[in-house]
Amino acid sequence: MKNQEEKSALELLQEKLVYNKKSFFEVSDEATKDAALEYAKGYMAFLDSSKTEREAVVSGIKLAENAGYVPYKLGDKLVAGGKYYLNNRGKSLYVFKIGTDSVEKGIKITAAHVDAPRLDLKPVPLYESSGMSFLKTHYYGGIRKYQWTAIPLALHGVVALADGTVKEIVIGEDEGDPLFYINDLLPHLAADQNSRPLGSAISGEALNLLSGSSPAFDGKGKDEIKLNVLRILNEKYGFVETDFISAELSAVPAFKARDIGLDRWLIGAYGHDDRVCAYPALTSLLNSDNTEKTVICVLADKEEVGSDGNSGMQCRIIADLIDEIAKATDANANTVRANSECLSADVCAAYDPNFPEVFEIRNAAMLSCGVSLAKYTGSRGKGGTNDASAEFVAKVRGYLEGASVNWQMAELGKIDVGGGGTVAKYIANHNIDTVDIGVPVISMHAPYEVVSKADVYSAYQAFAAFIK
Ligand code: MN
Ligand code: MN
Repeated sequence: MKNQEEKSALELLQEKLVYNKKSFFEVSDEATKDAALEYAKGYMAFLDSSKTEREAVVSGIKLAENAGYVPYKLGDKLVAGGKYYLNNRGKSLYVFKIGTDSVEKGIKITAAHVDAPRLDLKPVPLYESSGMSFLKTHYYGGIRKYQWTAIPLALHGVVALADGTVKEIVIGEDEGDPLFYINDLLPHLAADQNSRPLGSAISGEALNLLSGSSPAFDGKGKDEIKLNVLRILNEKYGFVETDFISAELSAVPAFKARDIGLDRWLIGAYGHDDRVCAYPALTSLLNSDNTEKTVICVLADKEEVGSDGNSGMQCRIIADLIDEIAKATDANANTVRANSECLSADVCAAYDPNFPEVFEIRNAAMLSCGVSLAKYTGSRGKGGTNDASAEFVAKVRGYLEGASVNWQMAELGKIDVGGGGTVAKYIANHNIDTVDIGVPVISMHAPYEVVSKADVYSAYQAFAAFIK
């Protein structure tokens, strides 16, 4: 980079007046680059141990407890200076610390989600046909169905038995574990399938997990392959077919997080959306030494299916928690909410030169150009979005620029090409200033997504600046 004295009048005027996204590699010194690479290691370990929202909650609690946070239930006593976590049914997590400042000055909230698109087992999933047994699935979230065939899949989740015990199940993550698989057509017989639009080439009812092929006895009896699968599940986990009805079992990609590219600056993994915001939001809080401000980090469930239900961001538990904090510190909860600020932390689409037709390049998030702020999301003319106020966007810019965070402004794609939403509007509905911010992702919602370690670190720096 040139010194200020070496720059021409033109260059100086451009620098003063023109908005340019800057690459992390252009603006970062060696120490920052090293810190980004180091930070990615912790994130990749979090990814491998957190493939479902339940597992992410367990991982989040471990990190929080290591940082001195203690369990809290609504109604428990809270004190200024305290560090707590509220585990909501094992599916969403509220990690928070109460500062010594009046909470009426507002709470800083970061909110990311820890559910990800996947294939949930149906309540009566198991059947056999033509020498194979299968588990029927009902897909969860916005997937492109064709991407989930012919890849290694693992099964994660819980089976709740009628006696109250809950069996935790993970099959397919250890080297020696068996895997699951969804059959696809051979190209030799795929002429008709190939001629169909991509979106209808594979139907939801064809997403059946191959789960066995040998009979319980000699195969002369009815459905012995299915029976054999049930026998193995019963021996290993102690449940029977009826127990699938009260289970949450999900097929997820069996891939581990790995470096992508020879220079090792990208990460390939399942579920970057939205663990790539959840992990930085959480670790920035856990590493914060500010004792004055009250901060809440939310790791939400159900974002991929609309944030409904009691573990989604539309649940009023966030308001209940703020009420409890206000009550404990003799503050007016309405005043607290009115003065609170939230970064709704969710991924955005990285501009992809392989598909330039869906992006508007001036307003697209560029890979390695930092965490991406989004004033609005939505579709069909900003439908269904929290459109953050200009004043609040300016305030957040101030936080980022004040801490020299590499950031960029972006929206999802070209107008009317598609669209999407985040939890931002559900938090803003509580009278809380909220804006979207997140990491650009390549191949979002694919079984294996890609992000830049540079952007992951920028996200961490952004959340740290926000709660500083
Ligand atoms: Mn997301
Ligand atoms: Mn998503």
